[in-house]
Amino acid sequence: MTLYAELHRHLGGSVVPRILWRYFERHSPELISRFADYSAFEDFYTRPRNTLDEYLELHTLVESVQTVETLPYFIYRLLRGAYIFENLAYLELRYTPYLRTPDHLSQSQRIDMMTEIVEVVGKASKLREYPIVTSQILCMHSRLPFEVNKAIVDLAAQNRQYVCGIDVAGGDSYSRERIDEWIKLYDYARSLGLNTTGHLYETTAGCDPQLLPYLMRIGHGIQIPLLYPELLKDVAARNQCLEVCPTTYLKTGTLQDIRQLKLVFDRCFDAGVDIAICTDNAGLHNVRLPFEYENLLTYNIINFEQLQACQDAAFRHAFAWPYRQRPVSLLNGLLNPQPTKALIS
Ligand SMILES: [Zn+2]
Repeated sequence: MTLYAELHRHLGGSVVPRILWRYFERHSPELISRFADYSAFEDFYTRPRNTLDEYLELHTLVESVQTVETLPYFIYRLLRGAYIFENLAYLELRYTPYLRTPDHLSQSQRIDMMTEIVEVVGKASKLREYPIVTSQILCMHSRLPFEVNKAIVDLAAQNRQYVCGIDVAGGDSYSRERIDEWIKLYDYARSLGLNTTGHLYETTAGCDPQLLPYLMRIGHGIQIPLLYPELLKDVAARNQCLEVCPTTYLKTGTLQDIRQLKLVFDRCFDAGVDIAICTDNAGLHNVRLPFEYENLLTYNIINFEQLQACQDAAFRHAFAWPYRQRPVSLLNGLLNPQPTKALIS
């Protein structure tokens, strides 16, 4: 039996439409009054967008209801679903803590409140009935000022019991305009011994080689094998892993056909670059991790052996998986049929 590791999932995009609909029904019916019924809402919530920017707008809808009071509600349901339907043994959950604080507060009050958000998310993620090893990745944001992003790095360093790394989110084209700031922030994060990933080379507008050496994993990175395969040698030498989230590229208009990913996988395998297959926004897409795997097999983008290599890579590159082996090696001992007396005699 295989248990999986998920390395790239946004808290904002992790709420499946049914859970969000029920929440609105109970607490904020005005937010869904324009939808005739659930299926109209689901259609709106999950339909593909034309650009990454339009797609990211949807996150703000969920962020607005994920407050310090409601986070445990959503996280409980997220972990329950991940345990029951996705066979997750390990989950890194990422989000921008600043965007979970009330926007009527001042910047410094919001920065102060981020510690509480990290603690609430950390405690809500440890559930006795749905045991999954979880940790948080704190996302700096391309639309937030330098001081807030630096405070996010400091927060990650001060809360290592809950946080395993940092990221930059918010659209890779915006990140590029402030490349010097990101280099400074990532350099600072590495000097504090923090693990790093970053949304980079996701779209054609977000290709900047200067930031690459600071990342231990690359959020998406699909434009490297597609457009700049000459960089793969260095990516392999730095042992960087690509976090590839197949459904995202169709929802954001980055790719037109999932089969375009075949080149991404082929070139990475050839160059010895690891890939972890992830969901990004499993709720927003209504596609859970096992279905991402299945889709790639169905379209002949990868074979079973390659899928297992990617599943292995996910555990190897996990920032907070506490064991040397994948859980499958533990379970095999339990589940392998033992020769019974009847068979022996
Ligand atoms: Zn992402």
